[in-house]
Amino acid sequence: MTEHDRALSSVLEAVGRTPLVEVQAGPSSVSIYAKLESFNPGASVKDRIGAYMVERMLERGDVGEGGTVVEPTAGNTGIGFAIAAEQLGLDAVFVVPERFSVEKQQLMRALGAEVINTPTDDGMGGAIERAHELADELDDAVVPQQFSNPLNAETHYETTGPEIYEALDGEVGAVVAGCGTAGTLMGIARYAREENPDTYVGAVEPEGSLYGEFLGEPREEAEYKIEGIGTHDTATNELFDPDLVDDIHPVSDDRAHEELKRLAAEEGHLVGSSSGAASVAARRVAQRIADGELDTPSDSVVTVFPDSAERYLSKGIYRSFEEWSG
Ligand code: PMP
Repeated sequence: MTEHDRALSSVLEAVGRTPLVEVQAGPSSVSIYAKLESFNPGASVKDRIGAYMVERMLERGDVGEGGTVVEPTAGNTGIGFAIAAEQLGLDAVFVVPERFSVEKQQLMRALGAEVINTPTDDGMGGAIERAHELADELDDAVVPQQFSNPLNAETHYETTGPEIYEALDGEVGAVVAGCGTAGTLMGIARYAREENPDTYVGAVEPEGSLYGEFLGEPREEAEYKIEGIGTHDTATNELFDPDLVDDIHPVSDDRAHEELKRLAAEEGHLVGSSSGAASVAARRVAQRIADGELDTPSDSVVTVFPDSAERYLSKGIYRSFEEWSG
C-alpha cells in the first residue's frame, strides 16, 4: 500500500499522482505514455496549480484567510483554483471569455465561485484587465496570474515531473506537451533536463497559434477549435522558455479531433482536444525516434492528457468534425 492508497483528509490531498498509461498506437520500438490528468478531483491538470499556488500564496502572505482569489481563466484553472480556495478558506472570482465551454463555468459556480464573462473578441487580455480591476475593488484580493507567475511552472517541476520519472524509473527519452500558459511543459521540461540534459522536449500548439515564432519559425495566425493550448488561449507567453524546447509541433484541428475520437474508440480514453493534439505530436516524435532521426536517452515518449471529453459534450466533441464547435 502506498501513502496515496490510504484515506485522505481532504480533496486537496487527492490532487496529483495521476496514472501514467501507455498509449497503444505508435511504432512498436518506442513506448508512448500519457499522464491522465482528468483523474484529479476537478478533472484537469489545473487542479495542480490551484492547490500548489494557493497554498504558496497563503504561506507568503500574498492573501490572507477570508481574502479572494481573482483569476482570468479559460475554465479549467478556475475549477482548480475554486477547489483550493474553498478548501483553504478563500473566496473565488473568475473572469472567463465567453467562447469557453459552459460546462466549465457551471462547475466553477457549483464549487462556490463567482463567474464573470468578458467578450470573446477582447481575448484573454480583456479578461486579465477585468480581473485586475475587480481585485483593485476588493479589500484583500490576489490575482495569481497563471500566465506569468513562476509558481505555475514550479508546480509541475515539483509534482508532475517527479511523478513521471518515478513511474518510469527515470527511463524518459522525450517529453511532449501542449502549451497554453506553458506552465505544464516548462515545469516538466526543467525537471527532465536536470535528470538528463539530452532529454528531447517538444511543445505542441494548434495550427494558427504563434508559439513557433519563439523558435524563429514563421507562423500564420488563424482561428482554431482546439481548447486550452496555443497563443490565443494565453495572454502573455512569459513562462515559455525557448531554451528548454527542441521543437514546436503544430497540430491541425482535424488531426486532433480524429485522434481524440480514436483514443476513445480504441483505447478507452475520454479526453479533450488538447489531449488529441498532444497524442498526435507524441506519436510523431515516437516515429522520429523509431526512424533514427532523434537520438534520445531512452526509447520512450511521455505526454500529458490535460482533461476529459465530458467537459466538451455541449460543443459536440464526439460529433463530426464540421459539427464540433471547438
Ligand atoms: N489543455 C487544457 C484543456 C487546458 O485547459 C490547458 C490550460 N490552459 C492546457 C492544456 C495547457 O496547460 P498549460 O497552461 O500548463 O500550458
